[in-house]
Amino acid sequence: TDEFEGIAAIVTGGASGIGAAIADRLAAGGAKVAVLDLDPAGSAHFGIECNVVDDDSVRTAIDAAVRHLGRLDVVINNAGIGAQGDVTTNDDAEWHRVFDVNVLGIVRVSRASLPHLRKSPAAAIVNTCSIAATAGLPQRALYSASKGAVLSLTLAMAADHVREGIRVNCVSPGTVDTPWVGRLLDSAADPEAERAALNARQPQGRMVDAAEVAGAVAYLASPLSGSTTGTSLAVDGGMQGL
Ligand code: NAD
Repeated sequence: TDEFEGIAAIVTGGASGIGAAIADRLAAGGAKVAVLDLDPAGSAHFGIECNVVDDDSVRTAIDAAVRHLGRLDVVINNAGIGAQGDVTTNDDAEWHRVFDVNVLGIVRVSRASLPHLRKSPAAAIVNTCSIAATAGLPQRALYSASKGAVLSLTLAMAADHVREGIRVNCVSPGTVDTPWVGRLLDSAADPEAERAALNARQPQGRMVDAAEVAGAVAYLASPLSGSTTGTSLAVDGGMQGL
């Protein structure tokens, strides 16, 4: 497993959950990894404080990452936030807030990274989408729309940059056991019972493991998928997403 030897990668939202598993997986394959996060303290990797809603913060962080890594080959746009409810639940400010992180965050990080990726012979961008993009889940209007935009953006970017040798793909996880889901469970009256019920509702009888999402990301970030661009790889335990 040295498929990332000589490769430099950044992972946004890499201090927790799926992002942390991705950072670990890329590093295990030999990559030099920088984690860009609101709070990178505690990360096992080179941490850079970054807020993806702030263009200056993103530019400064990408500069710092490239200075530290010496190059940039792989960009994992994973930072994201959730939202619950139907269209009457969230006001305009909340819609703007979630799109600013989940969609424009990818735009800002990609924009600042592209000049570096153009110099890489193995350039790949992998975005963390969600089954919510295509599943029509109830009470997830805002979140689903933001991830639908991530899917469309992935396809559009793949077309725009294929001639430059930059591949752009996304993974679409189902329900993944991360601190995010933990926080949702903690708001239930009986978190342990709720966790058991959530596991039981999954087609496989268990949530997806973050390492399983990281495995799919590693595939899409590595030369193993050298002719794959503009796709979504579902890691949803059989929820049959795209
Ligand atoms: P998490 O909350 O455990 O981790 C998210 C990380 O992103 C945190 O470290 C957080 O600090 C960081 N982050 C949030 N806003 C940021 C910002 N503005 N700038 C920089 N960093 C920021 O969540 P997770 O479950 O690991 O989710 C990661 C990604 O996976 C998200 O894009 C989420 O939408 C997606 N996803 C999660 C699930 C799931 O079931 N957990 C399912 C499908 C998709």
